[in-house]
Amino acid sequence: MSNFTNRVAAVTGGAQGIGAATALKLAAGGATVVVLDLNEDRAKDTAQRISDHPDVLAAGGKAVAACCDVTDEEAVDRVFDDIHREFGRLDILVNNAGITRDNMFFKMERPDWDSVLTTNLTSAYLCSRAAQRYMVPAKYGKIVSLSSRSALGNRGQANYAAAKAGIQGLTATLAIELGPFNITVNAVAPGYIATSMTAATAERVGASPAEHQQAVAERTPLGRVGQPEEVAAAVAFFAGDDSSYISGQTLYINGGAR
Ligand code: NDP
Repeated sequence: MSNFTNRVAAVTGGAQGIGAATALKLAAGGATVVVLDLNEDRAKDTAQRISDHPDVLAAGGKAVAACCDVTDEEAVDRVFDDIHREFGRLDILVNNAGITRDNMFFKMERPDWDSVLTTNLTSAYLCSRAAQRYMVPAKYGKIVSLSSRSALGNRGQANYAAAKAGIQGLTATLAIELGPFNITVNAVAPGYIATSMTAATAERVGASPAEHQQAVAERTPLGRVGQPEEVAAAVAFFAGDDSSYISGQTLYINGGAR
């Protein structure tokens, strides 16, 4: 496994779900991880839990919390500036913060289109732009963004699918533009992962999380849904030096489903 000793990472939406699992994975490799999230208390709790984890203590890693709305341009620039001032470097950015506002297209109102595009895609533009200011002079960087299997099309998710397909285009293009500065840029595109996001989807369609997961498991070759740690493992691969010649790629993490 890649060694993240002395690496500084920022994980957006890191207070829970896939982001929290990713922050833990990087810190357990020795990284200092900044857990960026809207909810300051939850970000602090998560950062503390990560810092106290035995694997993190053993590796010399740690996590700290920072409150930031990743759709707010000024707040994003400020928080990345603060990270660089405090730790002197920024090696890894994980663009993970995301939301869903599902609806059939003919009923999809403009605010739900805008908020999903802004939170899932514009945030990645803002955070990547802020991060590369420190990565380019250092001639080192790893940017990993969360796309989704929904990028291929998913009923009721025109806004989310468009944003997650946008992540793939952004990733491919940043790989071209930032490659000369030894910065790799990749994306992961998970299918159904058991988190608060998919629990909320279950609730919306009138099912319990367990019933909803069972229905998805039945059409997935591996016969189950994914766990946040299984996405975190792939993000950590792209965030580490084991993937040093891989850039511009999107990896689907979907239990074998096409
Ligand atoms: P969760 O909803 O569990 O976690 C997302 C986190 O992002 C929350 O802590 C949320 O805070 C935070 N967040 C939302 N908006 C902002 C914002 N503007 N600024 C800062 N933080 C914000 O989601 P998952 O862990 O399930 O998903 C993580 C990523 O993976 C998302 O990009 C998602 O689209 C993607 N993904 C998830 C899949 C799944 O099946 N779960 C499948 C494919 C992709 P708060 O709760 O306070 O809003």
